[in-house]
Amino acid sequence: MRHDDKGGFPAQQQEPPGLTSQMDPVPDHGEKTYGGHGRLKGLRALVTGGDSGIGRAISIAYAREGADVAISYLPEEQPDAEDTARLVEAAGRTCVLLPVDLVHRQACLQVVADAVRGLGGLDVLVNNAGYHWDRGPSGLEGLQPEHVERVLRTNLHAVIWLCQAALPHLGPGSSIINTTSIQAYDPSPALLDYAATKAALNNLTVNLAAALGPKGIRVNAVAPGPIWTPLQPATREAKKIETFGADTPLGRAGQPGEVAPAYVFLASPSDASYVSGTVVGVTGGGAVF
Ligand code: NAD
Ligand code: MG
Repeated sequence: MRHDDKGGFPAQQQEPPGLTSQMDPVPDHGEKTYGGHGRLKGLRALVTGGDSGIGRAISIAYAREGADVAISYLPEEQPDAEDTARLVEAAGRTCVLLPVDLVHRQACLQVVADAVRGLGGLDVLVNNAGYHWDRGPSGLEGLQPEHVERVLRTNLHAVIWLCQAALPHLGPGSSIINTTSIQAYDPSPALLDYAATKAALNNLTVNLAAALGPKGIRVNAVAPGPIWTPLQPATREAKKIETFGADTPLGRAGQPGEVAPAYVFLASPSDASYVSGTVVGVTGGGAVF
């Protein structure tokens, strides 16, 4: 992991959803550094948005900890998904590839069914797929119905339907991990709708933890700060990338591989056996309370 970054990146822009190979520099997903310790031995995990960024780092870490993984992603992200699959398979684990747009409930139900079929069951649901569109200084006035619809459907509606579909397959020792954001606590006016979905996910996490605790199912969330992933150059002006992450207390953006260990901890039935209803911040110092 590169702990010596000064913050910021070369100006660059992509079309959503963005591809890893077009990023400069290519993110660090822990390919060379993550070593597993059998913490997730024999578990089966569905990681939405597992093709790239934080989802790829989670998939690599889970595989190296002994889990089989199914990843969902948008069809245009097939090259990224295949790279993630190669990394999972190199760890000796199965990777089930599920290309699907999750904005409709039926797709969410189907992707869970396909993951269960491909993995032979399900122990961990990682709700990681997410989308934002930086509206710059126009904030509220700049909101476009099609963008808002996509943000709400992807970040919030899909999570509800994925949890609903996964529930019959989960049991004692299983867990759900949602991906929220520092934006839930310290929202940027340019990400008005996105920040609201992430705050809603925090609420959903606590509420689901209360509802599913009696079944022995734990529900938690991870709130990343600025992390270097395709989402950033795909949804912001090129200029904004130059200072991305520089305003954190640690003075730089994080790499996806620095976020994955929190997801490993929360998924571990032994390490996190009494951890439910909480949000773990991986923010470079931004407060998550
Ligand atoms: P990423 O672009 O690598 O991953 C997001 C993934 O979401 C995409 O790869 C895509 O497969 C998936 N996705 C988006 N829209 C979808 C749709 N309609 N249907 C199906 N899949 C869809 O970026 P990332 O930063 O790794 O994002 C992962 C999560 O982390 C997101 O929930 C994001 O909001 C959250 N997050 C990221 C940051 C950051 O700075 N990168 C900060 C806080 C939270
Ligand atoms: Mg992607």
